[in-house]
Amino acid sequence: MNEKVFRDPVHNYIPVDNPIIYNLINTKEFQRLRRIKQLGSSSFTFHGAEHSRFSHCLGVYHLARRVIGIFEKKYPDIWNPEESLLTMVTALLHDIGHGAYSHTFESLFGTDHEEFTQKIITDPETEVNAVLKRVSPDFPHQVASVINHSYPNKQVVQLISSQIDVDRMDYLLRDSYFSGVKYGEFDLSRILRVIRPLENGIAFSSDGMHAVEDYVLSRYQMYMQVYFHPASRAMEVLLKNLLKRAQELYLDHKDFFRQSSPHLVPFFENQISLDDYLSLDDGVMNTYFQTWMTSSDKILADLAKRYTNRKVFKSISFEEDDSEKLAVLRDLVKSVGFEPDYYTAVHNNFDLPYDVYKPDSQQSRTQIEMIQEDGTLIELSQLSDLVRTLSGTIHGDRRFYFPREMLTSGGLFADSKTNFQSYISNKRFKDPKEAGQ
Ligand code: ZN
Repeated sequence: MNEKVFRDPVHNYIPVDNPIIYNLINTKEFQRLRRIKQLGSSSFTFHGAEHSRFSHCLGVYHLARRVIGIFEKKYPDIWNPEESLLTMVTALLHDIGHGAYSHTFESLFGTDHEEFTQKIITDPETEVNAVLKRVSPDFPHQVASVINHSYPNKQVVQLISSQIDVDRMDYLLRDSYFSGVKYGEFDLSRILRVIRPLENGIAFSSDGMHAVEDYVLSRYQMYMQVYFHPASRAMEVLLKNLLKRAQELYLDHKDFFRQSSPHLVPFFENQISLDDYLSLDDGVMNTYFQTWMTSSDKILADLAKRYTNRKVFKSISFEEDDSEKLAVLRDLVKSVGFEPDYYTAVHNNFDLPYDVYKPDSQQSRTQIEMIQEDGTLIELSQLSDLVRTLSGTIHGDRRFYFPREMLTSGGLFADSKTNFQSYISNKRFKDPKEAGQ
């Protein structure tokens, strides 16, 4: 086919010269990714971060294509070119099962975007599956097996999903570009010069150690500064409470929800087909929230307004054994008329920035291997003091969210404000302002 190009703000031109890739991009399931934001509620904090899953998936495909181009040319004895199409296709489709506000949906309705990714790839009803079967009848299952890590060639699996893979490389660069922050940047050109296939995985020449180290640090900083931002999480818990309220009201108000928000009914009923899942996107959801703003249920209407108009909850971070203190805060919130089930929330975010391979761990990780001049392998944190400091350490926090009104002065909440604030300071919670939100 004639080469097509997609103009991309991160990678500039993204060329597509394989008809399978081009046809996959044109399926309805892939086009749907244009209507799903990559970072969900983060755009309430970083307003530039409106980019879509579509652009990220194209970017991951592009990086996979660049890496296998290098492997085919420089390492023809170690890389089998018959794996190239599978690698590019899986890179393109790795996130196709993401839904609107996936993470909130997953915790509330028990959906799993990785399961839906495999379903979209293997279900004979989808356009994606029809395109994949043109390669071979077994091809959809090969793609799904890379995604669930059971594919035998670990070179392919690690390129798509490991502690340094094309997925992470793209999202760090893309999310940092669109958020307007610089933390996620790293030296991609250098990494592409030093990446190499091994017999059973991938590795990097040790003279590129600082580029790999910088990538690990960038990822850590993006988690701390962007992905775990307290205000984005405030919007996430608000959204979850809003949907929880809707689901509870659904039992007694089926007609209202069937009319105002039909595509959510299967989720409320816990009977979700692939079609139901694919019919939701950010636009559909946002329209429903606007409709709910005029609901006769005061809590539903109020939460929908708060979400749509970005009225973020405030928060404080707390320690694991603070549950009694949180119970007091919930009571104080309740005492001024806010139902704590919908107007407070706990949100925990933790990340392990890097870890060495631990065979006994339940989710053991593939460690990053560096190749020394004599050809022997050495694990990254053995070479990098900085990575060694982060290795195996958990970072993040627990936060308790509550309405901003608990802290605003005057009016109806004057007394409660004093109570709430003095309780927070007496009990040595972190100052909410100091903590960001
Ligand atoms: Zn991804």
